[in-house]
Amino acid sequence: MESILNESIETRLLINGEFQASSSSKTFKVVYPYTKQVVAQVQEADIQDVEDAVTAADTAFPAWRDLGTDKRGIYLRNLAQLILESNNELAKLETLSTGRPISQFFDASAAADLFAYYAGGGWTAQGTASLNTPDHLNLTVKQPYGVVALIIPWKFPLVMLAGKLAPALAAGNAVVLKSSEKAPLTSLYVAKLIEKAGFPAGVVNIISGFGNPTGAALASHMTVRCISFTGSTATGQKIQAAAAESNMKHMELGGKSPAIIFEDADLETAVAQTQFSIQFNSGQVCSANSRIYVHESVAKQFVKLFREKFAAVQMGDPLDPSTTHGLQIDLLQYNRIKDYLDIGEKNGTLSLGGDANDGFFVRPTIFEGVDEDSRLIQEEVFGPVVVINTFSTETEAIEKANNSEFGLHAAVFTKDIDRAVRLAKALDAGTVGVNCTSPTNAKDTGFGGFKMSGNGREGLLYSLDSFLETKSILIKTARL
Ligand code: NAD
Repeated sequence: MESILNESIETRLLINGEFQASSSSKTFKVVYPYTKQVVAQVQEADIQDVEDAVTAADTAFPAWRDLGTDKRGIYLRNLAQLILESNNELAKLETLSTGRPISQFFDASAAADLFAYYAGGGWTAQGTASLNTPDHLNLTVKQPYGVVALIIPWKFPLVMLAGKLAPALAAGNAVVLKSSEKAPLTSLYVAKLIEKAGFPAGVVNIISGFGNPTGAALASHMTVRCISFTGSTATGQKIQAAAAESNMKHMELGGKSPAIIFEDADLETAVAQTQFSIQFNSGQVCSANSRIYVHESVAKQFVKLFREKFAAVQMGDPLDPSTTHGLQIDLLQYNRIKDYLDIGEKNGTLSLGGDANDGFFVRPTIFEGVDEDSRLIQEEVFGPVVVINTFSTETEAIEKANNSEFGLHAAVFTKDIDRAVRLAKALDAGTVGVNCTSPTNAKDTGFGGFKMSGNGREGLLYSLDSFLETKSILIKTARL
């Protein structure tokens, strides 16, 4: 089948400053989910390519570290500008790989912002000093790890790349980034921009490939001193196990985020916020509020408003700017969601949608009155499927919200400030929104999960810190 793209795009691996084919000559297809046309045939990195990429990063690291914060910042700012200038190309590639409506593309400016932010933030990689021990000057300083591996998912791949690559480089590390096999194209486009921005060879290596063998080889490599991973909890567990002996891990994993709507909430705001959270990117958002708990006294009204808003989305070709509801990324994801629709039918009442078609579209779906122990409540669906259940007391709402292995995000809607603060404290979540839901802005807040949703934090200076080791230096002095 002919490619849907007229222009040629980069499909090779970026290793040691050179674009090259896979050493195994293997390739894999990227398919536009809407038409099922092939977008590109991408080079698949083999174990030898992982080895070469890690060696290149290891060799490039000392000079990059010693360049200093200001000079590293110049490269990051150049890259930010190039990403901004490539907005349209990146938008098209992201839509063609993921099926997300082009109308929802904000990612180039968000990614550029992250590179610009960390370009200026590198200087904050500081430590502390103390003269408290007699005859000693004690210093605690921060240093880059060396070679770090970044493994990213297919959801918002460009922003995921920027959220890890920018702080890792600003902190002075050299990088091997593995994109998702489902959405490697914007990472490869950025690889071209990295070349254009003049980064020294080997500082950034970008490889495409599957979890196995590419990701697994990277995660267990002894030269890789730190891994930053975003993806599913199941993969995160595998990486933890594979890398147990070799390196530090930072994990951003799955979620099953609750939103609690109290009787005094502004219902229109609550509906607008929660509907956006679960519908954006067809529900393929880690922090999407897939469980909504509404006070029983306003449940009927809330559901009516929510249903109207949820049903009003425009499904169609994701490249059409009027499309507001796209498809799931592939057959695997689509079939997973169909299974959850069956579970919903058995464990609750279907209130909207519930159907899917073979174009990988899943209609916005609401289930009500779902059994709290059912898989639909306990597992991540990663689709536009929301459960709306009720509660009668604050304690019950907290118990239901916290009855989950996940703890990524939670939201509470109320006009009572005391209650909002009580809930923000009580909810098991890395982020709690009061009268608002996801997403969050990495330049405004930290982001990460409690429980099985991950460890460590991204955003702000947390990201920078996650790419730095702490070293104590004790200097014995003559009597001061
Ligand atoms: P995934 O876990 O299937 O894949 C993520 C990445 O890991 C891919 O690059 C994949 O190739 C790689 N991988 C797979 N097996 C591996 C292995 N054994 N060793 C090393 N690497 C391996 O996740 P996905 O389907 O791409 O993304 C969806 C998931 O990501 C959802 O669970 C979502 O909640 C989660 N997510 C979380 C956040 C967050 O910030 N918490 C953000 C986005 C997505």
